[in-house]
Amino acid sequence: MKTIFEKSNGASGINISDIKENLDFIDKKFLRLEKPDLPQMSELEVLRHYKELSDLNFCIEKGFYPLGSCTMKYNPKVNELLASLEGFANLHPCADEDDSQGALELMFKLQNALKEITGMDCVSLQPAAGAHGELTGMMIIKKYFEVKGENRSKVIIPDSAHGTNPASANACGFEILPVASDEKGQVDINALKELLTDDVAAIMMTNPNTLGIFEENVLQISEIMHKNGSLLYYDGANFNAIMGYTNPRLMGFDVVHINLHKTFATPHGGGGPGAGPVGVVEKLKDFLPVPIIDFDGEKYHANYDLKNSIGKVRSYFGNFGVLVRAYAYILMMGKNLKRASEDAVLNANYLKEKLREEYFLPYNQPCMHEFVLSADKQKECGVSALNIAKSLMDNNTHPPTIYFPLIVHEAMMIEPTESENKQRLDEFAEIMIKIAKEVKSDPHDILSAPHNTPVKKIDETTAARHPDLNFKQ
Ligand SMILES: *Cc1c(COP(=O)(O)O)cnc(C)c1O
Repeated sequence: MKTIFEKSNGASGINISDIKENLDFIDKKFLRLEKPDLPQMSELEVLRHYKELSDLNFCIEKGFYPLGSCTMKYNPKVNELLASLEGFANLHPCADEDDSQGALELMFKLQNALKEITGMDCVSLQPAAGAHGELTGMMIIKKYFEVKGENRSKVIIPDSAHGTNPASANACGFEILPVASDEKGQVDINALKELLTDDVAAIMMTNPNTLGIFEENVLQISEIMHKNGSLLYYDGANFNAIMGYTNPRLMGFDVVHINLHKTFATPHGGGGPGAGPVGVVEKLKDFLPVPIIDFDGEKYHANYDLKNSIGKVRSYFGNFGVLVRAYAYILMMGKNLKRASEDAVLNANYLKEKLREEYFLPYNQPCMHEFVLSADKQKECGVSALNIAKSLMDNNTHPPTIYFPLIVHEAMMIEPTESENKQRLDEFAEIMIKIAKEVKSDPHDILSAPHNTPVKKIDETTAARHPDLNFKQ
């Protein structure tokens, strides 16, 4: 596909020199002497160019999107309709409370729904993403110990964790202590005990973890940590696996964030928008960022008066449009949220069983909503997880997450989500098996994939060392 500069043919949609005559009010010294070197095309051709570009985007509406850890599930379109209702979309965040009762009511009820889903005592809707929720949670934990007068500077994080976990704790000034996973892909309790000292503030855990495995010893871990005077932080980005079955409160956690844009069906990717509400147990309630939305029996209020609040972490009320979508999704699903998790787990296990013959399954046990394969067997024929990912693109399928989690060689992390039917899962399995067979017979095509995409195999080393950012050639 050509760039718009290459397509330029001298035709004009808007004649800039016509406009120039109307620019008398601008001092001559600010006017350019030569015409800008802009592409020249008719309005219709410009339109076609951008439509063609947008058709290159891959999205859940176009095909299977098993990007592990990202929960690329179907986002019901009715959510969009509700978020764009004039009363929500055009409401000014500085409007009086009396004029914002509907929006405040929605936030209040969403807080309550999330309290019920997570089991936490109080929820703030402020944070704008998962990582932002983590940072908020870490700030709460830090301030909690400061107010208590305890000097705790360390945070324990499993080696399977999402990269944002150590980044968030570190950004908050904590020293990170990685804890190893055992042969079952779970936190190694003995290794954990060895790390415990009285300056450990918390452990950050994801459950099910990023291998898609449920941490069976989570209650024991919670007991050990609490006995040490430490807190437990729950990265709830994998909530899609457990909705209605269990919650972080029952597992003994004190602080939780959830990704509304993953589990609660807001379109995401490409950098946002998202929302990462944070829930806490009673003793941490006063530390939440403000405002919290309250109800006095008659009216809804934004409460800025929390004794030990860490302050504001985002302007106004957070990403309000995302909150509307999440609330709509929760209301629409009701008790069926549990069914969504059930189907997500079923779909993942179904695919895992279909693929385990051709691909190495490093943690051989039932998985939750996602599972991690390794391309180690294919690597013996010179084909890497990256090659397989590119080959999937030739087959109109979005690749899984690759090379994460870091503790699995040639990792391919697959999350089908509940929104796919058996036919799609079978189709994906067939493509993956076809690729594995090709690797064995003749990997030539796979090694040079992708062939059907606008950008073919790129020389990544040269691209990194000598980037050519000149789009005009
Ligand atoms: C996606 C994800 C995050 C980060 O969430 P963002 O909204 O992308 O900041 C953190 N932890 C896990 C396990 C995730 O999957």
